[in-house]
Amino acid sequence: MDIQKAVSAIQEEVIGLRRDLHRHPELGFREYRTSKIISEYLAALNLDEIHQCSGTGVIGILRGSRPGKTVMMRADIDALPIQEESGEPFSSETPGIAHACGHDGHTAMLLGEAKIWASHRDQIPGTLVFLFQPNEEDAGAQVMIDDGALELAGNPQAVFGCHLKSNSPIGTISMAPGPMMASSYYFRIRIKGKGGHGGYPHLCINPISAASHVIAAIDTFNSLEQSVFRPTVISTGMIHAGEKEIVIPDFLEMQGSVRCLHFDHEQVHARLRELVTKACDLCRCTCEIELKCGNSLLANDEKLFELAKETAGEVVGADNVLTRDVAVMGGDDFAEFSMRIPGMYYFIGMADPEKGTDVPNHNTKFRLNEDALATGMEMQMKLVTKYLNS
Ligand SMILES: [Zn+2]
Ligand SMILES: [Zn+2]
Repeated sequence: MDIQKAVSAIQEEVIGLRRDLHRHPELGFREYRTSKIISEYLAALNLDEIHQCSGTGVIGILRGSRPGKTVMMRADIDALPIQEESGEPFSSETPGIAHACGHDGHTAMLLGEAKIWASHRDQIPGTLVFLFQPNEEDAGAQVMIDDGALELAGNPQAVFGCHLKSNSPIGTISMAPGPMMASSYYFRIRIKGKGGHGGYPHLCINPISAASHVIAAIDTFNSLEQSVFRPTVISTGMIHAGEKEIVIPDFLEMQGSVRCLHFDHEQVHARLRELVTKACDLCRCTCEIELKCGNSLLANDEKLFELAKETAGEVVGADNVLTRDVAVMGGDDFAEFSMRIPGMYYFIGMADPEKGTDVPNHNTKFRLNEDALATGMEMQMKLVTKYLNS
């Protein structure tokens, strides 16, 4: 099959699908309409199996005419709690919710690919799994895995995924070997002191003073304890304590995130626990620390990286395959799949200042560059072909 030709024949349909999803965005685990559209679209393709998973998740399976490896492709389907201000004629019709991260594009691309593959079974030496994942923005992948998604998918030997990227130029594909997106854990620290009258601090134990020591310790850790070659960031995003200026509170709660673009996150977490405990101890406070996984480290498989780099070169030209300074401190829960099976994840560039498609993801004015959809489909279909034949 001529993949490029097949993709361009379906391009208009994929753009139509994407615009419809864009008009009707839905939040994580509430993607009911989206999920129904996906299931019905896949059903019309006569796939071998279609499963619902974790409520709104959908897994479609297509067996080729010859036996071979099983490869899974993943698209995320959720939108964000954002009021859209993109000015597009097909803007969100749901107040306060918008596809401002491009997941409508990811979903439409994977549906288009499924349609092409379904009419070319004779060219598939193996099995293809199309996985549509809810709630990427808040750890939906782990829920699907807990609900048995990988078993339903027939335990694939490789997983591919991508993200449309507003700060990479249109016509480029970027990827990194190994770590590409940071692990992200959320921390919640509860500090307990002893409340009382603001005029008598010596009779109280102020948890706010303890928090200032915790923050100083975290800042020192960030600046002095970490090698710049091992990117690590601890950020505090919320602090709540007190209700009145003349009252010293009993409690304080602070929350934030710990991000690591390397495999030693456990060491960083242990040090954070130690710093917080010691800083609170210094101020005679007690504390509890909880750490919850937002997403794991997304690290590409080195062999799949080589295959993907070669493929991308064929799609956009070797000069447009970016492999330096590609890794980011943001995360994607695609990592939950790729830490269990060899995975490959890359960015499809879509920035074009003239079209306004260089506005950051998650911004109210975010615009998707629909020209990137064909690139994304061609890239993944060629990569699957190469992988199954390797
Ligand atoms: Zn996002
Ligand atoms: Zn996203």
